Amino acid sequence: MPGFELFGDLEKKEVTDVLENGVLMRYGFDGMRNGHWKAKELEKVLENTFQVNHAQLVSSGTAAISVALAASGVGAGDEVILPTFTFVASFEAIMMLGAIPILVDIDDTLTLNPKAVEKAITPKTKAIMVVHMCGSMANMDALQNICSKHSLLLIEDACQAIGGTYKGKVLGSIGDLGCFSFDFVKTITCGEGGAVITNNEAYYTNSDHYSDHGHDHVGNDRGAESHPFLGYNFRISELHAAVGLAQIKRLPEILKIQKRNYTIIREALSQIPEVTFRTVPEGGEENYSFLNFFLPDLEMSLKVSEVFKTEGVDACFQYYNNNWHYIRKWNHLKELKSLYPISAEVKSGLEYLKTSEFPKSDHYIGRNISCLIKLSWTEQQVKERASKMVEIIKASL
Ligand SMILES: *Cc1c(COP(=O)(O)O)cnc(C)c1O
Repeated sequence: MPGFELFGDLEKKEVTDVLENGVLMRYGFDGMRNGHWKAKELEKVLENTFQVNHAQLVSSGTAAISVALAASGVGAGDEVILPTFTFVASFEAIMMLGAIPILVDIDDTLTLNPKAVEKAITPKTKAIMVVHMCGSMANMDALQNICSKHSLLLIEDACQAIGGTYKGKVLGSIGDLGCFSFDFVKTITCGEGGAVITNNEAYYTNSDHYSDHGHDHVGNDRGAESHPFLGYNFRISELHAAVGLAQIKRLPEILKIQKRNYTIIREALSQIPEVTFRTVPEGGEENYSFLNFFLPDLEMSLKVSEVFKTEGVDACFQYYNNNWHYIRKWNHLKELKSLYPISAEVKSGLEYLKTSEFPKSDHYIGRNISCLIKLSWTEQQVKERASKMVEIIKASL
């Protein structure tokens, strides 16, 4: 997955353009920048690549989620439904607005189970946030139907799924708003950065203003701009955008290498009848950034992942005991450890976390192993890795 594996001259050239004129900010300073507008240019490329009307760059994927929620009016006391298997950032981004994250079970897609979503809807529910973990998706048609039926927003956290598609649409472009991360370990990196994409003009305008202190960006005198509403600073810098501009050009190549490496390993593991794979909903195509498979039970999955580590099969994750991606060990969140007081409404809204159990999620995450697909592996190395994995799994059955 990581874009940092394919990095060099293209990135240097774009960054040099910015360094030569010294304008590190994406707005203003028109006279000094010699026509270089890296953030604006990258936004145009994202719009074309993802076939959406609008892209707004921001400072991180976490910022992108907060901006997307704020731009579509999600705030204090609103409930946002999201899966138990996610990255802690999606939970945090909801909390930042005073909204309440409601975690629900996943299914064998390793993301939202539409039935669990529907059960969790209350009069306070405002949005469903689907998290396309490890490059693949939920049943998006089912989620869209639920959203239309209950008048809810559909927000896609596509931070790990750039380039994946569903029924001909790029992940992130299906819901009302989609979010990407360009942090250092993502498929496309610019060090730190993110983007919100949407076809809704009002959400875009809100994202544009909100991510820059509410500046309306009318005219070219920053001092004279007006501020229609409260905002914060979630801006990306020109330097980061310049790196992103080079990286996004590599996306087709990255996806191609991922697919090749993924397919070699998958075909090898398919020889073992006890190994099954994550379900990709009909009409969906992963971005091949991870290969996710299931073993018959938790014990075996934990054991195999340990042996992978000791035998040098790196970059494979077993999320059952992980405290970044899965609810079971999120003790700091379950206990609501916060530096500052949290509103009574959010506190009571999160009470459920202390007692809730997620047996279906445990069932799938417990048996899952998720292997990162690297870009730097040669075909030979992937084949050797695949045989080693087969050997280890067979020995553990
Ligand atoms: C990386 C990630 C984020 C957050 O992105 P940052 O740019 O690191 O803030 C959010 N959600 C998911 C699923 C991620 O993997």
